[in-house]
Amino acid sequence: MAVTPAIRTAEIIAVGSELLARQRIDTNSLFLAERLLELGIELRRKHVVGDHPAELRDTIADAIARVDLVITTGGLGPTDDDLTREAVAAVLGRRLAVDPEVLAIVAARFERRGVPMPSVNRRQAEVIEGARWLPNPNGTAPGQVVDTGDRLIVLLPGPPREMQPMFLASVVPVLAARASGRQVRRRTVRTTGFSESQVEEIAQPIYSRFAAGVVPIDTTVLASPGLVELHLSGAAEDVDALEGVLDRASAELVAALGDAVFTTDERSLEEVVGAELAARQLMIAAAESCTGGLLLQRLTDIPGSSAWVLGGVVAYANAVKVEALGVGEDTLAAHGAVSEAVARAMAEGVRRRLGADVGVGITGVAGPGGGSDEKPVGTVWIAVAAGDTHARRFLFPGDRQMIRQFAASAALNMVRRAIGAKVPAPDR
Ligand code: AMP
Ligand code: MG
Repeated sequence: MAVTPAIRTAEIIAVGSELLARQRIDTNSLFLAERLLELGIELRRKHVVGDHPAELRDTIADAIARVDLVITTGGLGPTDDDLTREAVAAVLGRRLAVDPEVLAIVAARFERRGVPMPSVNRRQAEVIEGARWLPNPNGTAPGQVVDTGDRLIVLLPGPPREMQPMFLASVVPVLAARASGRQVRRRTVRTTGFSESQVEEIAQPIYSRFAAGVVPIDTTVLASPGLVELHLSGAAEDVDALEGVLDRASAELVAALGDAVFTTDERSLEEVVGAELAARQLMIAAAESCTGGLLLQRLTDIPGSSAWVLGGVVAYANAVKVEALGVGEDTLAAHGAVSEAVARAMAEGVRRRLGADVGVGITGVAGPGGGSDEKPVGTVWIAVAAGDTHARRFLFPGDRQMIRQFAASAALNMVRRAIGAKVPAPDR
C-alpha cells in the first residue's frame, strides 16, 4: 500500500460575496491560520472569492495545483448563490449526488423545529463523489473532505459557530495524523510604554541573531495603542531543542526590554494589573474624562474583577469634576480641565470619595477639536493616587479612538508601576 503523503502546505479560500462588500470581514481564516500553525502546516495563501462560479473554480483549481491542503469556508448554504460544492466537484471532475444519510439528518433538523423542509435544502445533502461528509451539530450544512491521495480538499460552512467546532472535531484529527512531524512552538513578549520603534531598536539585534541560528526563530512585532508585542515562533522536529532556543530568545528580550515587559504568558495588560491589585488586596477606582469609562470597561472586562474594581466616575463636564470628585473650581479656573493639578485632584478625589486604595484620574484632549498650541490634540494628563500621587503628561498620536485607547493603556501601566512599588494602605 502506498504511504499517505504528509500535509505540509495549505491555502484557505473564504467564499461569499458579502466578504467582498463593506459589511463583513473574513474572520474564519484567522481561526484556521492559528490552528494550521499549531499543526505545523504552512499556510501559503488566503483568498476571498465572491459567489461567482467561474472565479470560484479558478481559485480552487489553482490552489489544488499548488498545495497539499485546500480549505474552503462558506458557500454551503441551500440557496443558488451557494456554489462551493459544485465548484469543487467540477474542478475534480467528480459527480455530486444526494446522500440519503445526510438528507435524513437535514430533514430531521427541520422536523425537530416543527417546520417542513424547504425543497432547496436538498442541495445541502449533496456530497461530492468519494468525499467523506462531516457532521454539523450547529447547523444544517455538513462539511466535506475529499482525499485525492496527494491532496486534501476540505469544505466547511461559513458561520464561525458552525465552522470552528466542525474543524476541531472532524478535521484536526485527520490533519494531525498526516502532519509532517515538524512541530511549531511560540512565545509572546508583551510590552507597554514603549513605541513600536523603541521596541524594535532594542529587540532587533537580539531577534535577528536568533533568526540566523541553527534552529531559526521567526519574530514579528505587533503594535496597538499603548502595547507592542513580539511574537516568536519556530518549527522543528526536535521540539526540545526548539523550546530551548525559544526560551533563550524570550529571556534575552525580556532582560533587554526590562520593566516595559508586562507579560510573557499572553495575558492582557488589564489582566496583569487586575492580578497585581488582587495579590495586594487593593481596590481601584477611576475618574475618567476623555476616556469616558474606557479604563473601567477594560478593567471590568476581566471576569472576577469585582475583587479589585470598586467603580468610578465619568467626569466629563467640569461641574461633575467639582460635584462628584471635589475638584476645586479655583483649580479648574487656574489650570484648565486638562492639567496636572486637575488630574491629581480627580485621582485623589475618586480615591477619597469611593474609599479606594488606588485612584486614577484621566483628563485630556481626544480631539478632533479642542486642541490648542499649549495643549494640542492628544495631550492627556494621567494621575495615580496610591498613598502618594504620581502624575504624567502624555502626547498621544492618532485619532480620537486611538488617543482614548492609548490613555487607558498608559493609565493601566502607571497603576502597574505604582503598585509594584509597595503601596501603603490608605487611612480611611
Ligand atoms: P454561507 O455558508 O456562505 O451561507 O455563510 C453564511 C454566513 O457565514 C455569512 O453570511 C457570514 O455571516 C458567515 N461567514 C461566511 N464566511 C465567513 C468568513 N470567512 N468569516 C466570517 N464569517 C463568515
Ligand atoms: Mg455565502
